[in-house]
Amino acid sequence: MSAPRYMGIPTFMRAPLIDDPSEFDIAVVGVPYDGAVTNRPGARHGPREVRSASSMMRAIHPVTRVNPYELCRVGDGGDVPFTRLYELEAAHEDIERFISSFKREGVLTLAVGGDHSVTLPVLRGLVTDGPVGLIHIDAHTDTWDEFMGSRYSHGAPFRRAVEEELIDPRRTIQIGIRGAQNSTEGWDYSLSTGMRVVPMDEVSRVGVESVGQEAMQIVGTGPTYLSFDIDSIDPAFAPGTGTPEIGGLTSLESLALLRSLRGVQLRGADVVEVAPPFDPTGVTSLTAATIVYELLCLMAEVAA
Ligand code: MN
Ligand code: MN
Repeated sequence: MSAPRYMGIPTFMRAPLIDDPSEFDIAVVGVPYDGAVTNRPGARHGPREVRSASSMMRAIHPVTRVNPYELCRVGDGGDVPFTRLYELEAAHEDIERFISSFKREGVLTLAVGGDHSVTLPVLRGLVTDGPVGLIHIDAHTDTWDEFMGSRYSHGAPFRRAVEEELIDPRRTIQIGIRGAQNSTEGWDYSLSTGMRVVPMDEVSRVGVESVGQEAMQIVGTGPTYLSFDIDSIDPAFAPGTGTPEIGGLTSLESLALLRSLRGVQLRGADVVEVAPPFDPTGVTSLTAATIVYELLCLMAEVAA
């Protein structure tokens, strides 16, 4: 609060840059990687723009009055240092190694992507004691198999995460799914493994609070991860993304959905697929920064 919010080097939420992780409880980290997209690239620029937009975030939550900075020591963990940027699976190893370095120090990570492929190595770095529950908010199930010869595209992370026993599909809910597909393989995989899939038309019929209540029941009291793909929000509100689908959540609904999840045992979370080249007004980065703040409040409350 000692300087105007537009001044200085932009870290996430203007939090201190982390030098020694052992002095922090929650690290917001950047994962500027978009080498696994199936459509428009640009999410590699997400972390920097979200950092800049997040200088608008303040401390005290307008509804819950939670102040995450009073509950936890929150810092900016910096960006994943990539050693082999041009090899998808090697880049994923870099991400896993970076996330592990925080996990080892007992620091929870809140990752900002990057395309959705990065969630798989983030989970590999975080999940060490058996599969976690998953709340996945997205227009797409991201449970497709091979695409163009790779098993690790941004359409596949949650299929791989089930196979690698990082997530428990019976403690998984996918919210906001929509858009036509050329095959039903991904949808079928989600349902056949026992995931609860809530298509967007059902969300709009029953309302986000009801979906949030069901999500709480499905993940229960065990450790849980939350993955938020910005394309779950309608492109009218968040156009800056690689695979937009119309007919999504409003920005207000996305806030209400997250606010209905207080008490979920979040061990980590991410916001992905923010593609600033398609975000002429910067509203997508602002929306993502606000989602990151909401997730930070949820994480801080259970970590405190
Ligand atoms: Mn996705
Ligand atoms: Mn998506």
